[in-house]
Amino acid sequence: MAIERTLSIIKPDAVAKNVIGKIYDRFESAGLKIVASKMAHLSQSEAEQFYAVHKERPFFKDLVSFMISGPVMIQVLQGEGAILKNRDLMGATDPKKAEKGTIRADFADSIDANAVHGSDAPETAAVEVAFFFPGMNVFNR
Ligand code: UDP
Repeated sequence: MAIERTLSIIKPDAVAKNVIGKIYDRFESAGLKIVASKMAHLSQSEAEQFYAVHKERPFFKDLVSFMISGPVMIQVLQGEGAILKNRDLMGATDPKKAEKGTIRADFADSIDANAVHGSDAPETAAVEVAFFFPGMNVFNR
């Protein structure tokens, strides 16, 4: 399987719960390497741009408000099949439906405050990595 990169965000609810390290452990234990990371408090415009694909959805306004409600931890994960691997680690969008042992099952409270974001395909991963880490800010390890 190919080595991929994917964009991951630990959302404001999980940052507030102080579980960044526990979530990083899930990534590393699964063989994913953190090759870029930064904490940021997104502006409304950044959150709207990042989630532009959802702008017609009924939850868009609440999603943007939630994503700017506190700092987030943003990272690029690298490894074999990183995109799907990260989605498997995250679990279903709604934590009530997420499999036991997934990040969302263990750390998320609701479908809106669901702990993590992860790119869902190679095309979105490329766009999302470039959005937060333009240029040379991703490292080869
Ligand atoms: N979301 C929400 N209500 C919904 C569906 C989605 O608040 O009914 C939020 C949720 O935080 C989710 C994000 O919008 O993580 C993006 O939705 P998507 O369907 O892309 O889910 P994901 O890829 O994050 O699992």
